[in-house]
Amino acid sequence: MIYDIIIVGAGMAGLTAAIYGSRAGKSVLVLEGNIHGGQIINTINIENWPGDYKTTGAELMQKIYKQAVDLGAEVEYDEVIKIVDKGEQKEVECEDAKYTARAVILAMGTEPRKMSDKQARDAGNRPVSYCATCDGALYKNKPVVVVGSGNTAKHEMTYLKGIASKVYHIHHDDPIPRDTAAVFVAIGRVPSTECVEGLVELDKEGYVVANEDCATSQEGIYVAGDCRTKKVRQLVTAAADGATAAEKAVRYLNKI
Ligand SMILES: Cc1cc2nc3c(=O)[nH]c(=O)nc-3n(C[C@H](O)[C@H](O)[C@H](O)COP(=O)(O)OP(=O)(O)OC[C@H]3O[C@@H](n4cnc5c(N)ncnc54)[C@H](O)[C@@H]3O)c2cc1C
Repeated sequence: MIYDIIIVGAGMAGLTAAIYGSRAGKSVLVLEGNIHGGQIINTINIENWPGDYKTTGAELMQKIYKQAVDLGAEVEYDEVIKIVDKGEQKEVECEDAKYTARAVILAMGTEPRKMSDKQARDAGNRPVSYCATCDGALYKNKPVVVVGSGNTAKHEMTYLKGIASKVYHIHHDDPIPRDTAAVFVAIGRVPSTECVEGLVELDKEGYVVANEDCATSQEGIYVAGDCRTKKVRQLVTAAADGATAAEKAVRYLNKI
């Protein structure tokens, strides 16, 4: 089967694009390499999603996922490895299967930046986590270390202080204290755009180059959400991009 639109990533941007694409009468497949919901899934208090004050990431994203599926979008759990642009057909290669579509929307978001090689060697076999809310409870009354200097690192430290026996704080590239049971890394995020390297134009940090129209350097390939070049990376801007990218994809499909 050839889908009208394949969307890579089932976060806010991808699922919103799925809603708009499906409502325009197009066949839509969303490919997700992890679980649907994206990076917001572990956040327990969202106060700036209009109309849903003090919701959780899991609750919000489950509603949006259901809305997309109810409107007809299909979702497959398979990581996209590579996309080959064959003009009016795009081949999307995943770990387990290959899919074809006439248009593609990239919505892969961002992922936590990894520690330096030196720190990773230092950490050895100790567990490394990127989310204190998810994993902090595993280290009750044990010493842990937080790597990072920004607001996220401060937030992780405050959270872990209520659980761990001691919370060390170090910066990027500092040596990791020997007696720690786990390493919590909070040194920013990087775009998950490895699967489109060489396909569309990326900036020097790896974000897909696009402006408010969400068009990439390749015809029929659009981009939405945190993985594109933009000033504000938030849920509402990801949703807005999803709508724009889908609208653009629908116009392109109607033209060809
Ligand atoms: C801790 C934290 C708290 C936040 N709190 C708020 C808040 O309160 N309010 C707010 O507005 N924003 C908040 N944000 C920002 C917000 O979460 C993001 O702006 C938004 O979720 C981005 O959505 P997205 O769909 O672009 O990307 P993501 O949510 O990152 O979704 C991308 C999806 O693509 C998948 N994917 C990646 N690569 C592939 C591949 N190769 N193949 C298949 N699937 C792939 C990923 O698994 C993921 O599910 C927060 C972010 C974090 C990290």
